[in-house]
Amino acid sequence: MILTKTETQYLIEELTRHLSAQRDGGNKNLICRCPYCGKEGKFGIYIGKESQRKRQFMSHCFSCGRSNQTLGRLLEDIGRMDLAVTQTIDLEAELNPELLFPLEQDDEIDDSLGIVELPDFYRRTFSHPYLKNRGFSMDDYEYFPVGTTKGLNRRFDDYVIFPVIDEGDTVGYVARHIWSKDEIDSYNRKAKIRGEYQIRRFNNSTQNDFIKLLYNYDAVIEDETDTVIIVEGIFDVVALTRKLELYDSREIAVVATFGKKISNVQIYKLQSKGVKTVVLGYDGDAVEAIKQTASELASYFDVLIADIADPTKDWQDLTRAEIFEIFAHRLKTPLEYKLTKIQQR
Ligand SMILES: [Zn+2]
Repeated sequence: MILTKTETQYLIEELTRHLSAQRDGGNKNLICRCPYCGKEGKFGIYIGKESQRKRQFMSHCFSCGRSNQTLGRLLEDIGRMDLAVTQTIDLEAELNPELLFPLEQDDEIDDSLGIVELPDFYRRTFSHPYLKNRGFSMDDYEYFPVGTTKGLNRRFDDYVIFPVIDEGDTVGYVARHIWSKDEIDSYNRKAKIRGEYQIRRFNNSTQNDFIKLLYNYDAVIEDETDTVIIVEGIFDVVALTRKLELYDSREIAVVATFGKKISNVQIYKLQSKGVKTVVLGYDGDAVEAIKQTASELASYFDVLIADIADPTKDWQDLTRAEIFEIFAHRLKTPLEYKLTKIQQR
């Protein structure tokens, strides 16, 4: 769009007045109540410098997820077609929402991912003693691809490898050693004394930062999956999906954040698929991490916390009945959660 400086200035002033908008700290966005969902302070209109990826007056709501690629569309929707100017709009331009994260100001959301090659000789498996031991069923192998290198790749001997898939592409992998943490620690103590090679519990891909990835992301179906359960790791995803029988659910999906934190990219990925409610299911020992993550999520979703009462347990340890009990009676709002955790001290 080609606008003179004066036109741009005039439009910014009119939009500011009409929408009672404020400028963000970096002076790059107008922030106001969303004209679509009505949420205060969540709608951003980009007014910074144009670049290949950033177009002036693109807008996005971080509450309802509504995006407009063009000013014309926004003006139409707020009933200000009188402000529309003759413009050359590149209708093919892809909206790149990373520029419209007003709360981030200078830190832009970069959710781009490269495709990752699985380790040489990776072969998918449908039966493995270690996974059997961790409760894997036939469905689990079917829905959660996992493999080994069959002793043909020394770096991955004794590891099970889970591809991390995003829109059908492999964007990472988690390789978990098949010994328990205690066995590995005990081996490593001795190896250290002997000056020998240490075993790593995880031998994961390194190309894409895991804070940009969600395990089982493709189970979240755009505009169909309403509720997502967020857990720490792959084995939690598999255990919960199995125990709640969510394999074919289009309404509810379980994803993992690879740890006890959620990043803005991960939040963005869920929001862009239209998720409304998130249930935070981090391990019972993660009280502070749960409080922190719940408050970060609360700006974007309805948040509930699945409170595992026993701090020593995770989803893999709980029986089906215990899990149903939690989802039926122990889902808490962030405030209820904070209150119960204070009372317990
Ligand atoms: Zn909105």
